[in-house]
Amino acid sequence: LSIRRQRQMCIRDRFSMSLTFGVLSIQGDVLENILSVKAAIDALDIDATVTAVRTTDEISKVDGLVIPGGESTTIGQLSKFNGSLKILKEKIEEGMPVLGICAGMVLLSNNANDKVVGKIDQPLLNILDIKLERNSFGRQRESFESDISLDSIGIPKFNGVFIRAPSISDVGSDVEVLSKFNEKIIAVKKNNVIGVAFHPELTTDICLLYTSPSPRDVEE
Ligand code: GLN
Repeated sequence: LSIRRQRQMCIRDRFSMSLTFGVLSIQGDVLENILSVKAAIDALDIDATVTAVRTTDEISKVDGLVIPGGESTTIGQLSKFNGSLKILKEKIEEGMPVLGICAGMVLLSNNANDKVVGKIDQPLLNILDIKLERNSFGRQRESFESDISLDSIGIPKFNGVFIRAPSISDVGSDVEVLSKFNEKIIAVKKNNVIGVAFHPELTTDICLLYTSPSPRDVEE
């Protein structure tokens, strides 16, 4: 069975009610992520919607979440300020599936050092026990694309788009490495959480959204 078909069956079997996916909409490329989750919902042909979420009330209603790329310091500070950081942490720890992209992965970490300026005081969710370096591949003008692979989740080839991307040099025992590029770790998974350093929403390939943890993974 294709990944798409497996995922479709999993979700249809398990859920009779409609699912609501959220894209954290504090800062970053929210619209691109909404469009890519929408494309995945359409391709899977499941009963689900996707919506931008910002407030604690909006976040409390979603069944799964994408934390988009952008600027992790800004997303962290603003979500701390409006109270959403706390509910995000609670829901993720209770098992809500989450895909953290680039700055989103930084936010999920417990340890972020910038390649140039070192450690700064930025709010983090402290979910992933990883040693992370921000802007690890250089600044905006050093953005690049490269083929990468995520073999352990059934994706042999994926177009990785790297924009001021972080990398990980070390992971805790409960964190699984999904992909490396030039010896640097660029994708990780822990139970209901996937973090990636690259931007899947800027490619047309939505297979990563099929393989992201679904609410089913959490209950099994
Ligand atoms: N460099 C940004 C940060 O550390 C992340 C960049 C991105 O999300 N594309 O927050």
